[in-house]
Amino acid sequence: MSDEPEKRTRKPLGLKRAVDAGEVKQTFSHGRTNKVAVEVKRRRKLTKPGETPAPEAAPAPVVAEPPPPPPPPPPRAAPAPAPKRAPASETPQERVKRLQLEAEEERLKMAEEARKRDDEKARLAAEEEKKRAEDNRKAEDKADEPAPALPETAVEADAAVVEAEDGTSSGDPVLEKQDTPAPAARKFTPVARPEPKRPEKKKKKDDKGGATPEVGKDKRRSGKLTVTKALNEDEGRRARSLAALKRAREKERRMQGGGSSKPREKQIRDVIVPEAITVGELAKRMGEKGADLVKELFNLDMMVTVNQTIDADTAELLVEQFGHNIERVSADDVEIKVEQDVDPEETLKERPPVVTIMGHVDHGKTSLLDALRGANVTKGEAGGITQHIGSYQITAKNKQVITFLDTPGHAAFTEMRQRGANVTDIVVLVVAADDGIMPQTIEAINHTKAAGVPLIVAINKMDKPEANPDNIRNRLLEHEVIVEKMSGDVQDVEVSAKTGDGLDALIEAITLQAQLLELKARPDRDADATVIEAQLDKGRGPVATVLITRGTLKRGDTFVVGTQSGRVRAIINDAGKQIKEAGPSMPVEVLGLGGVPSAGDQLTVVENEQRAREVAQYRREKATEKRTALAPTNFDTMFNNLASNVIEWPVLVKADVQGSVEAIVNALHNISTDDIKVRVLHAGVGAITESDVTLAAASNAPIIGFNVRPNAKARDLVKRDGVRMMYYDVIYHLTEEVAKEMAGELGPERIETVVGRAEVKEVFKSGKRDKAAGLLVLEGVIRKGLFARLTREDVIVSATTIASLRRFKDDVDEVRSGLECGVVLQDTNDIKPGDSLEVFEVELRERTL
Ligand code: GDP
Ligand code: MG
Repeated sequence: MSDEPEKRTRKPLGLKRAVDAGEVKQTFSHGRTNKVAVEVKRRRKLTKPGETPAPEAAPAPVVAEPPPPPPPPPPRAAPAPAPKRAPASETPQERVKRLQLEAEEERLKMAEEARKRDDEKARLAAEEEKKRAEDNRKAEDKADEPAPALPETAVEADAAVVEAEDGTSSGDPVLEKQDTPAPAARKFTPVARPEPKRPEKKKKKDDKGGATPEVGKDKRRSGKLTVTKALNEDEGRRARSLAALKRAREKERRMQGGGSSKPREKQIRDVIVPEAITVGELAKRMGEKGADLVKELFNLDMMVTVNQTIDADTAELLVEQFGHNIERVSADDVEIKVEQDVDPEETLKERPPVVTIMGHVDHGKTSLLDALRGANVTKGEAGGITQHIGSYQITAKNKQVITFLDTPGHAAFTEMRQRGANVTDIVVLVVAADDGIMPQTIEAINHTKAAGVPLIVAINKMDKPEANPDNIRNRLLEHEVIVEKMSGDVQDVEVSAKTGDGLDALIEAITLQAQLLELKARPDRDADATVIEAQLDKGRGPVATVLITRGTLKRGDTFVVGTQSGRVRAIINDAGKQIKEAGPSMPVEVLGLGGVPSAGDQLTVVENEQRAREVAQYRREKATEKRTALAPTNFDTMFNNLASNVIEWPVLVKADVQGSVEAIVNALHNISTDDIKVRVLHAGVGAITESDVTLAAASNAPIIGFNVRPNAKARDLVKRDGVRMMYYDVIYHLTEEVAKEMAGELGPERIETVVGRAEVKEVFKSGKRDKAAGLLVLEGVIRKGLFARLTREDVIVSATTIASLRRFKDDVDEVRSGLECGVVLQDTNDIKPGDSLEVFEVELRERTL
């Protein structure tokens, strides 16, 4: 049959084969291997005598499926599998190539035939299918009968392909595609192949002792039926039809005596499957082990992990495979429909009013809140601006409970303020009696009006001698706010946050207004809440401050919030105390979220975790759809820009908390003009990561880091790609600079050059008040007087300077990398072991454009 020089040899040919010629190593993707015993009767060698056969068979490690089960098929009178036109002069590489080509042709042919056959099969009824399965099995069991589907040559050819391609596990485009799970696209096009048998495979695995990898070439040519069958099986597995799988399953069951040992058959479940579901979730719903599903998917040639999402078709296949009933739900059934869930009038109870304090920066919002609450938070805010929305509840002397939301005091926070107004029942507009109506005062008035929320004017700083409340009242008229003293219907109260004068009157005014509003909510139901603020807490994970809008939130409740699901692990009230439950109008911190939601997201308690995950998953997909639909390609943007003459100013934003992210994004949008627009490519919470830097570099955009720094890997990329970093800790500095830059009024550029990095090893007292840090210098040098930034998990703790530097009790000017030293930082004692210190020089350079 072959005119090539055929050579029989007992001498091992293999590259690395050392011990047992009768064993092959299977190499699956994802690095799994399996060793299989192969009974080798004869070995054909394609190489010319004297030629070293193995090494050039580059495509390398063998992939072989285990041979079929006992009884082992007697060696077939195997048709010479080798290529027919092998010129003796051929180099091994050429030969491999040719073999691959031939094999590929053969395979295509076979696939075509198989497809035709399968089309026919598809028309058959289920019973016939079963019958065929039976026949198939018999055929396989009688191993001396030729495999029904493929002639031996094709099998051999396939073997060559398998060896050439699978060995590298990347050559085969089909395999590759399946490696990256794209379940949605997968179609289970049935392809007829001789039936593989999983159970035997398991057995074989168990049999294996230690063995050495076998060289593929060697095995391919062994002409051994078991191997070819094994390879054949592998081939079959790649494109296994649904019917084939069912047959295999059935057989497996039978072989295990009716599957008595399999718990899965004990309980048949109705499994609800949405349009997409993670493997883990599906396993849960089926009451199966996640690993079993993964295994099954692997047999379908889908390399997925438990956490990956598969589509409903795949899920259906699995559900049926495991003998459960499927119940598919459409996307719209998934979403929670809050609007339709209205509480009957008689269930409603009075609830505390939610009050938002608005006003121009420095007019005393925070001071007023503090005075009302008896706390003192104003000190220590960066730039004196309230950066995060805080909220608290007070019980006034008149027993009235009031919830206050503190909104940040800068125009940049417009949208958050608007958001605040959504849950807000009453707005208290703070106007400093010594200052008057300012831009943000007007903004606050407009937003309040737009939201249709009643207003109470608090004229603050009445303790100041220059206070002129009537001027304020008059000026308010211009903005159609007519206060009671001017015969209008807007309550006005003169207060002093400093002395506490007028606070009772303010509370009275709020109480009165609340009564007029008849604020009610049903307390005895599952809770709904609105996220006021959310962040990733270092110790506690994602934390959200929410305001309960109705119902009672309890520890242990399962919920969805935006695109996240979770289970209430703890509820913490405004005093920082853990509580068991929270009712309407209470602002609380919630722990137990799956991820960080966004401010304004609705939190809804649902009946169980399954539902929560399902809704969250659905929303995530929706969000992704939206994102992909909205995100223009670079080309689109370019063309848009060309067409409209709008200059875009692309930027990435990373900040320490969600509230800041949103504030910055809104601030940036607000400073956009018709000619130049800020385009936020990405905004998020946390350290600046590699992916941020990559995106920035690709888009030639700067990264704004608000109280955050790049992590170590990102730092290298920043350096390599020359990405511009803009660090801030006060939002209006940021907006000012960006606005100036956009307007072309560029001041001198501030260039930071990092000269050294160190790690805080220990912290000890220095002098009466200060703390000193024991450092190990990791990179560069630390020099006295330089700027320094202290970071804790890539979040900036303080920006300062090196006040003093010591080495073994001696003051020194600089300390080099690898050495230890002690430093005292200017104006900060917030140092902890594990913190990182970055020391840098600052240079102001004229900009050139
Ligand atoms: P916010 O930016 O609106 O939150 O204003 P703050 O509460 O931070 O107050 C700004 C400044 O005004 C701080 O220095 C306060 O001490 C001061 N302040 C606030 N309320 C009063 C007040 O009633 N009387 C006086 N004299 N100063 C006040
Ligand atoms: Mg403030």
